[in-house]
Amino acid sequence: MPQIDDKLAPIYEEVVRRNAGEPEFHQAVREVLESLGRVVAKRPDYLEDALIERICEPERQIIFRVPWTDDKGRVQINRGFRVQFSSAMGPYKGGLRFHPSVNVGIIKFLGFEQIFKNALTGLPIGGGKGGSDFDPKGRSDGEVMRFCQSFMTELYRHLGEYTDVPAGDIGVGAREIGYMFGQYKRLTNRYEAGVLTGKGLFYGGSLARKEATGYGNTYFTQAMLRTGGTDFDGKRVVVSGSGNVAIYTIEKVQEFGGKVIACSDSSGYIVDEAGIDLELLKEIKEVRRARISQYIRVKGEGNGAYFVKSGEGSIWDVACDVAMPSATQNELTGKDATRLIRNGVIAVGEGANMPCTPEAIRTFQQAGVKFGPGKAANAGGVATSALEMQQNASRDRWTFEQTESRLATIMRDIHDSCYTTAEEFGAPGDYVIGANIAGFIRVAEPMRAFGVI
Ligand code: NDP
Repeated sequence: MPQIDDKLAPIYEEVVRRNAGEPEFHQAVREVLESLGRVVAKRPDYLEDALIERICEPERQIIFRVPWTDDKGRVQINRGFRVQFSSAMGPYKGGLRFHPSVNVGIIKFLGFEQIFKNALTGLPIGGGKGGSDFDPKGRSDGEVMRFCQSFMTELYRHLGEYTDVPAGDIGVGAREIGYMFGQYKRLTNRYEAGVLTGKGLFYGGSLARKEATGYGNTYFTQAMLRTGGTDFDGKRVVVSGSGNVAIYTIEKVQEFGGKVIACSDSSGYIVDEAGIDLELLKEIKEVRRARISQYIRVKGEGNGAYFVKSGEGSIWDVACDVAMPSATQNELTGKDATRLIRNGVIAVGEGANMPCTPEAIRTFQQAGVKFGPGKAANAGGVATSALEMQQNASRDRWTFEQTESRLATIMRDIHDSCYTTAEEFGAPGDYVIGANIAGFIRVAEPMRAFGVI
C-alpha cells in the first residue's frame, strides 16, 4: 500500500483532525500526499512556508440556507455549499452538484481534486466546487426553477467572471444552469455571460461543452491504449452511469470503433451485447428523464439484452477490455477490480470523480492495467468550460470542430504531461503519480510567487 512520506504525514494527520467526519475529503488529500513524497525528496523547498498545508485548506467555504416552495405550496429547506478552494491559477472554477448525498466533505473532496485537474489543463483557472442536498429527481420544472432561483439568490454575491465561475455536475445540466443564469442576470442587472459555463447554445454556451467530459475521457483513454500499441477499435467497453459524462463517452467510444455493451443508473444496469443503441439511450435519459430499465422495455429482452436491478449484481461483473466508470465516487471497489482483471480488462479511464476506491486503484496498477485517474482523464469538461469563458470574453463563437480540436489537443497534452512527469519522478506508467505531481507543481509556483496569503 502506498505510504505518505514521513515529512508529509503530520500534514495528513492535521487534515483529518480539522475536518472530522469527512472521509471522502481525507481520501482525496491522502492520494495526493502519497504522490508528493517524491517531489519533496527532490525539492525540499516545497515544504517551506506551509505551502502544502495551505493547499489543503480552502480559501473560503460558504454554507447557506435555500428555502423554496414546492408545487403543493409547502416550504422546503435545503442546504447550499460553495467551497472556493484555490485561486492561485485564476478564478475559482468547478461544478455544482445537486444530489441528496451532498455534504461539505463531498464538496471539499471535489474542490480539492479540482485544483490539480484545472492546473493540468494548462488554462488559467483556480479550483472550487459547490452544490446542494436538493434532489431534482421527481421534481417538476417549476420546482427546479424555484429551487435554482433561491440557490442563486444567495450564491450570486460570491460569483463573478473574475471571481468564481460554476458549471454543472451531477443533477445540474442545461436546464438548471439556465435558471441560475437567469436569476444571476436579474439580481445583478448585468449580462455577464462568463459567470457560469455549460450554458445553452442560444445564450453564450459553447459548442462541444456538453460532450466535452465524455469525449475528453475517451481521448485520454485512447492515448493510454496507444502507449501499449493498441486502440479502441473492436474493444468491449463498459461505461457506468447514463448521465452527461456516460452518454458522451459512449458516443465517442463508438466513433472510435469500440463496442459499449453496458451502462447504468442508480436503479441498476443494462447489458446489450449488440452494442448500446445511443439514440434510444438519449431518448430515455435526456428527453424522458426515465429509469434505465426502460431501455430494455423498449428494445425487448433477449439476444444478449437484459436489465439487472441494483443490489442484484454489479455492472463490473460484465466482461470487458476497457472500463470507464462515469457515475459517482467510490462506485468501483477492490473486489470489482479483481473481477474486471480476471475478465481481461486492460485499461480504466475514470470519467467520474474518484469512482475507484484506493484498493481498486492499487489492484489495477499491480496487475499492469493502464489506469487514468479522474483528475486527468475527466479534465476535458472543465477545459472546455474555460474555452467557453474565452469565447464569452471575446464575444466570439467557435465551431464544434474548432472547439473539439482544442479539446483533443488539451487531452493529449494532459496525457503526455502525466506520462513524462511519472517517468521523471521514477514511477513510469503511473498516471496517478504523474497527474498529482504535474498538477501540484503548476499550483505551487504561483503560490510561492504571491508570498504568504
Ligand atoms: P449526471 O447527473 O448527468 O449523471 C450521473 C449518473 O450517475 C446518472 O446515471 C446517475 O444515476 C448515476 N449516479 C449518480 N449517483 C449515483 C449513485 N450514488 N449510485 C449509482 N449511480 C449514481 O452527472 P454527470 O454525468 O455530470 O457526472 C457524473 C460524474 O462525472 C460525477 O462524478 C461528476 O463529478 C463527474 N464529472 C462531471 C463533469 C461534467 O462536465 N458533467 C466533469 C468532470 C467530472 P441516477 O440518475 O439514477 O441518479
